Amino acid sequence: MTGSRLGLMGGTFNPIHFGHLRAAEEVAEGFRLSRLLFVPSGQPPHKPHRPVVEFEHRLAMVRLASAGRPGFGVSDVEGHRRGPSYTVDTLGFFQKAWGPAATLYFIVGLDAFLDVASWRDYRRLFTLAHLVVISRPGTDPLDLEPLLKAMVSVDYAWYEGERAFFHPRLLPVHYRPVAPLDISSSAIRRRAHRGESIRYLIPDPVREYIDNNRLYQPIGPDGLSFGRGKEENV
Ligand code: NAP
Repeated sequence: MTGSRLGLMGGTFNPIHFGHLRAAEEVAEGFRLSRLLFVPSGQPPHKPHRPVVEFEHRLAMVRLASAGRPGFGVSDVEGHRRGPSYTVDTLGFFQKAWGPAATLYFIVGLDAFLDVASWRDYRRLFTLAHLVVISRPGTDPLDLEPLLKAMVSVDYAWYEGERAFFHPRLLPVHYRPVAPLDISSSAIRRRAHRGESIRYLIPDPVREYIDNNRLYQPIGPDGLSFGRGKEENV
């Protein structure tokens, strides 16, 4: 797989929604990616005390959401590892699997990126993959500069024409505005727990999967979901 550009979009995807999909679409197009893989977290490292829907369900929903879009795929690599799913291990895995001629692009939202200094072995991320930070309305790329300089290296410099921070030795950090879709997994779960419609926030096959598998069930006044234990489908 020489000379390919592989995009990796990690996420808890609890559940995947049109905000994720549209961001992936725009980055795949903008960077002319050969392939883009969604990588659901096995055990999200930043949510150790917050139960999430089982990996197999989140994986199945991501598969349904991305099916039929040529060039998009799903990796279950984080589901095979024990313990928390660290991004540095995932990028190391893909670097090995795809070989040195492939360029990796790790796509990450601004909120997640702003926490990057708390991630395992985070400095190594900047040697493994180009980071593509997806921007949200109201953010400015230069907001990232103090973080990059303080936490990674003072040698990162912003190049307006490229919309990226470049470094003499580390890989670039790109900044990409995407369509501002104000959709979040947590708001979808809240709506579902209140028994409200989640139609048009997520692809129909994902909505049907949620219904058929009784995920994110309405929660009664006692805090328990109707039909299953609360912990199983938050
Ligand atoms: P998530 O909530 O499922 O979201 C996946 C990505 O989509 C995030 O980067 C998120 O950006 C973005 N996104 C969500 N809604 C969006 C919208 N409406 N429009 C555009 N983009 C949207 O995933 P997550 O739980 O934050 O995890 C993100 C990745 O970071 C995962 O691969 C996780 O493993 C990794 N991570 C690694 C470590 C570690 O290695 N120690 C620690 C923490 C996270 P926002 O963040 O801006 O919402």
